[in-house]
Amino acid sequence: MTFAIHGLAVARGIAIGRAVLVASSRVDVAHYFIEADQVESEIARVASARDAVVEEINRLLQNMPKDAPPELPALLDVHMMLLQDETLSDGVKHWVQDRLYNAEWALTSQLEIVARQFDEMDDVYLRERKGDLEQVVERILRHMKGLPTTVPHPTAKRSAGARQQDLLLEDIQDVPLVLVAHDLSPADMLQFKQSVFAGFVTDVGGKTSHTAIVARSLDIPAVVGARNASQLVRQDDWVIIDGDAGILIVDPSPIILAEYGFKQRQAELERERLSRLRHTPAVTLDGQRVELLANIEMPEDAPAALGVGAVGVGLFRSEFLFMGREGALPDEEEQFEAYLRAVTGMKGLPVTIRTVDVGADKPLDRHVRDEAHLNPALGLRAIRWSLADPSMFLTQLRAVLRAAAHGQVHLLIPMLAHEREIRQTLALLDQARLQLDNRGMAYGPIKIGAMIEIPAAALSVHMFLRYFDFLSIGTNDLIQYTLAIDRADEQVAHLYDPLHPAVLRLVADTIAACVARGKGVSVCGEMAGDPSLTRLLLGLGLRSFSMHPTQILAVKQEILRADAARLVDWSQQVLRADDPSLMIH
Ligand code: PEP
Ligand code: MG
Repeated sequence: MTFAIHGLAVARGIAIGRAVLVASSRVDVAHYFIEADQVESEIARVASARDAVVEEINRLLQNMPKDAPPELPALLDVHMMLLQDETLSDGVKHWVQDRLYNAEWALTSQLEIVARQFDEMDDVYLRERKGDLEQVVERILRHMKGLPTTVPHPTAKRSAGARQQDLLLEDIQDVPLVLVAHDLSPADMLQFKQSVFAGFVTDVGGKTSHTAIVARSLDIPAVVGARNASQLVRQDDWVIIDGDAGILIVDPSPIILAEYGFKQRQAELERERLSRLRHTPAVTLDGQRVELLANIEMPEDAPAALGVGAVGVGLFRSEFLFMGREGALPDEEEQFEAYLRAVTGMKGLPVTIRTVDVGADKPLDRHVRDEAHLNPALGLRAIRWSLADPSMFLTQLRAVLRAAAHGQVHLLIPMLAHEREIRQTLALLDQARLQLDNRGMAYGPIKIGAMIEIPAAALSVHMFLRYFDFLSIGTNDLIQYTLAIDRADEQVAHLYDPLHPAVLRLVADTIAACVARGKGVSVCGEMAGDPSLTRLLLGLGLRSFSMHPTQILAVKQEILRADAARLVDWSQQVLRADDPSLMIH
């Protein structure tokens, strides 16, 4: 039966495919297709890991201490029974043989199916065995991780010998796959770059949560905040993701499928049409030149930025180099090389590297949500985190300064509010230069900018302008902190409003102050990439926009159609309106 689940539209487009349900704790399980001649060895990998767990449990049972609680052996017996149950091994065989899923993916797919059967049991005792099943599978997965393997990881570069695999992929691409999960961390999302998924849906998340932002950079249709999608959708269900409307359609009828197939082709045509604007300079009808910059997460994103005609990187979110590494931070050399790759990747165009902004909804380790803080968004995040660990911060500053010897590098500092934070930051930058001098290492000149993303910063913009070469308005956080709306919480997503008069006032005054002082100002939050807001930002005097590469051409189209001088009065009216949204089309 067809039904629809409504969520929040975060990445445009239509994806039609089969659902792959993944529990968030298991998303770092590799998902890729194997070659037909690997079927036996993949099945054997699961079997041998399972045998190892059986042995482990047997050992535990034999060496059970006398004072062990009596329930323990009984529990281990249950684990043993679950391990040896054929439903699990038969299911794994099915996913490997019929779908060519790799072993870990097959195992977790089958886990979702069996877990659901447990959920549906009337008997409370049996229902609760689901937790045991999950533990058993986690154990098998751990054993599999421990095995030496030459199997490629989905985020790894495709090996030269993977051409045959590509052919297979093409066969299987008749059945695109759509990821459905309760939650995905930004680090999980990064894993899906170059992955097999054609779209994804999560139960939780807001429109400008970092998970949604990374999804947008993947350029695959995505819906977040779809409440209980991961409960309602079943493994392998046919689904449609409508990333424009923020809807997930489950088990679509043939008529709906045909309609969405048509929409998909229309979207493809629109993309092709926009791609013709790639080399057109972004100039308004009245001759105002506008700078369109790219937001990137990894140096490897540079070609996509160049591909759509970005004239530089306005925001390199360096924290993605720090995430998903179980807390081990990248050292100076590793960071330097990454920044250098971004600089050379941009072929002489400027690259703005933002210092690390972890915390809030970007935990370093995807498995550890920061429960210790009652409200991590107001806690030790971004520059606060960096200043709390000067040696880590100095490492990053040295790496950025060294990269600046090889091209145009700007440094951007997130989440500043206090003058003393500014002074500490600049002092550490001087110290980093001194350390490099002492080591006799080359470094280059950099422009230094501050993000305006806390209302207090926007209200003290003149103080910021005394210290910085340029400012960049982070509207995602500016909205979050002005309206007291957690950007990652889908329950209050309807209140997250870029057009609230207070937000617009802070944005407008920041732009005006920079223009009056002749200092560079850019918007690098998601507002910059929303074509429906391009005219307003132009009218407020903005001439530098930084956004995901996927948005650049649509925004450029708006710029080419706009007369900036004529937008000035209208923008002032929008600023004065009680409900500015009524004036934006
Ligand atoms: C912002 O807050 O608008 C911004 C660009 O930074 P981030 O989304 O990484 O917090
Ligand atoms: Mg921010």
